[in-house]
Amino acid sequence: MIVPSTLWRTVSSPWDARFTIGPSPKDHIPTTATCRRGAILDLDDTLYPRELFVQSGLMAVARHLEEQRGITAMDAFDTMSAARRDGAHGLELQAMCSQYGLPADLVAELLHVYRTHRPLLTLSRETVSVLARLRADGWRLVILTNGPPAVQRAKVQALGLSRLVDHVVYAEEHDPGGKPAAAVFREALRCLDVPASASICVGDDLVRDIAGARAAGIRTVRLATPGAPGASAADADVTIESLSALPDVAARLLKGARADAS
Ligand SMILES: [Mg+2]
Repeated sequence: MIVPSTLWRTVSSPWDARFTIGPSPKDHIPTTATCRRGAILDLDDTLYPRELFVQSGLMAVARHLEEQRGITAMDAFDTMSAARRDGAHGLELQAMCSQYGLPADLVAELLHVYRTHRPLLTLSRETVSVLARLRADGWRLVILTNGPPAVQRAKVQALGLSRLVDHVVYAEEHDPGGKPAAAVFREALRCLDVPASASICVGDDLVRDIAGARAAGIRTVRLATPGAPGASAADADVTIESLSALPDVAARLLKGARADAS
């Protein structure tokens, strides 16, 4: 059965209620010339749910299998999604090949399709609003993201984030392991042109985002996404459950701090 792509491309995830509406040009607020504070923002599972990218990639693989192997895209997608639901995170392509008797070396080809596909992603109205509010409040914004730079660039482009922040730093271009290496936070601070004492780092990962930023002398905000681990001794200065809380939390965190950015 061939299903029109427009009917099944819609991504379903627990985050849907929060991440379904694309950015609008009217939400853009230009930076001011008197920025005194800087925010380093993680990308995956902070500004958008990474699961959306995974689903988008599996859809691209499913379409490839329909074109190349005669397996309907819907069946292929359902097979890989079922494997993911059953706990085979990261092994969906292997599960697909196993179930359909496809050669194991096809996995490399499918992985290439997954990593190079043009993702179908939209930024939530909440995220757009938060970024606009931060910039209106005088924050300079840098996205600092781990992962293969080409893949991360495709995400940034799909989400329309470039116009909403001042810089995007692809961490693995500055250190092979990316965050939490000190070099990548130094690069983010350089792009911010704001000292660590007047900066915050926002992310969901206790090690890559929180510990890395803390070691660089940057105050931290952890976004506790659904299923995230609870607080620990290594937790951030502040934990929030919704990105919408960030502007007020960030302001309080740096209250009294005065940047020497000029
Ligand atoms: Mg993350």
